[in-house]
Amino acid sequence: MNKGILFVVSGPSGAGKSTVTKLVREELEIPLSISATTRKPRIGEVDGKDYYFLSIDEFEKKIAEEGFLEYANVHGNYYGTLKSEVESKLENGLDVILEIDVQGGEQIKEKFPQAILIFFKAPNDQELEKRLRDRNTDSEDVIKVRLENSLKELEYEKFYDLVIINDEIINAVNNLKNIINKKGRL
Ligand code: 5GP
Repeated sequence: MNKGILFVVSGPSGAGKSTVTKLVREELEIPLSISATTRKPRIGEVDGKDYYFLSIDEFEKKIAEEGFLEYANVHGNYYGTLKSEVESKLENGLDVILEIDVQGGEQIKEKFPQAILIFFKAPNDQELEKRLRDRNTDSEDVIKVRLENSLKELEYEKFYDLVIINDEIINAVNNLKNIINKKGRL
């Protein structure tokens, strides 16, 4: 059986990658890999659905057990992709989309050179800031950290195979669907 393909979606917070990825995953029935994080749950987030919410000790124990395909410190918290969420799906021929930060993307490219890395961008900096504020999910301090980090994240664009500029959600959804349906061969 052919193995599944690993797609990685990254880009600054507020670029809209979560919304677009969720719509595409649901439409194409691509399974989600649930990440682990030490970030506190936001209102409405559910453990085991949105993330596995771990303590720092629990996360570090998993690192020591080599339970992660990749992990990184993002905006002051640990985030990581669990091997158990991904490996069996790929073995069974299922494609998987990882929605992870740029440091994680780099680690995945090293371990899985055949992975297809897609970078999401907002059309411009003003729009990125507006989207972060309109989400109403984060405090001013958190928004500030995320905006500062977005500049660093944009430097990683060159390591990615494809770029999607998220001007209109419908366009971005169609672009991502195309990439996945054509297995990155655009
Ligand atoms: P949020 O706190 O908004 O849910 O996510 C913050 C950032 O962490 C986003 O850029 C998201 O893509 C990234 N992230 C989520 N899960 C993982 C993961 O498993 N590994 C890495 N490296 N980054 C992740």
